Amino acid sequence: MKSLKNLFRYGPGPSSSHTIAPFLAAKAFASQIGEKTKEVHVTFLGSLALTGTGHHSALAVKEGLKDYDVTIDFDTITKPKHPLTMVFKAELPEGPLSTTYYSLGGGELYSETDSTVVEKDVYPFATLKEMRAYMMDEGIATFRELCLRFEDPSIDGYMMKVVKAMIQSVERGLVSEGPIPANDNPRLQVFRSAKGIYAQAKKLRGSARKTLLLSAYAYAVAEGSACGEVVVTAPTCGSSGVLPAIIYYAHAHRHIPLPRLRDALYVAGMFGNFVKQNACIAGSIGGCQAEIGTASSMAAAAICSLEGLGIGAMEYAAEAAMEHFLGLSCDPVDGYVIIPCIERNGIAANRALTCFHYAKYISPIRRNKVNFDDVVAAMKMTGDSLAMEYKETGLGGLAYILDPRHC
Ligand code: SF4
Repeated sequence: MKSLKNLFRYGPGPSSSHTIAPFLAAKAFASQIGEKTKEVHVTFLGSLALTGTGHHSALAVKEGLKDYDVTIDFDTITKPKHPLTMVFKAELPEGPLSTTYYSLGGGELYSETDSTVVEKDVYPFATLKEMRAYMMDEGIATFRELCLRFEDPSIDGYMMKVVKAMIQSVERGLVSEGPIPANDNPRLQVFRSAKGIYAQAKKLRGSARKTLLLSAYAYAVAEGSACGEVVVTAPTCGSSGVLPAIIYYAHAHRHIPLPRLRDALYVAGMFGNFVKQNACIAGSIGGCQAEIGTASSMAAAAICSLEGLGIGAMEYAAEAAMEHFLGLSCDPVDGYVIIPCIERNGIAANRALTCFHYAKYISPIRRNKVNFDDVVAAMKMTGDSLAMEYKETGLGGLAYILDPRHC
């Protein structure tokens, strides 16, 4: 299992698998070719070809190769083995060079021929169950203590920076206005609404107020991501509003100090890491359950940590949050991470809160029979079985129904 630095990355939205990963692949290819040529040809395949325009994939590649003349093809005919495939080609003095990169979700890359992009494992655990047993055997009480045992010592500072970046991204979104850039599909003429939701929340009391506050915070980040602003992948750009909404609520309303917010991120990150390792976190690979389901799961575990509950409650909440998103398809309209993505961030933040309540109040009455490793396995099985139309291709679900050609 990889470092939490690979799960929580900074990068421009709207989609970590379609913007951050192509940008990093372009940079890696540039390092391979150096100054031997000025011309690079890139082919996007699979979901990158089908939704890459709305997701700004070409802009990301051009930014990563800004010193080169880049031509890009969107090959929507060829069916690649992996749904997020990019082929970079250049003619070098010693002969042609072709490198294929695969985007794995959350900005992570893999390549059979460029080992510089392949990240190393730092944790030895296959499952959450194994990790819990290790913590018990070693007398480790907190996720932070565990992570500091395996990660580079700089991880603590990095996680604090992530907390601050999440808070800033909410605050930025709460004062932002204007349209979210998209094409001329009338269904996609959407304006930023976090500020308005926040104003409405402040007029309310009780549970409606809390629901709207969490929604405003989640929208603030998700709308920024949709506009191409830099956000933290949690675990992806598409789902980047869920965990910050919880962190910001704890910061602004509960006045929980930053070190405790950081500790909650260690918890959230490790739950997300097990999903990434044993299933996936990319909508184009596993459907939206992999993005929004995982984000909600991470956020639910984080609330338990912030509220001082133990690892059993964290597992209950994370499992429940994932379980009830199983099967959710990835169907962004016209390839823009606007509909249904922004609203899903708000819903998932509120779902995380509900799952915390279940963990705190229902788990002592009715023991959960499904553990977190089980639900991750079920999510992988479900994602593998989902038809490709429902995995960020624009060919199914809301993306199909709201396409002007089909309305
Ligand atoms: S539908 Fe879900 S998985 Fe797909 S792009 Fe939107 S947030 Fe990401």
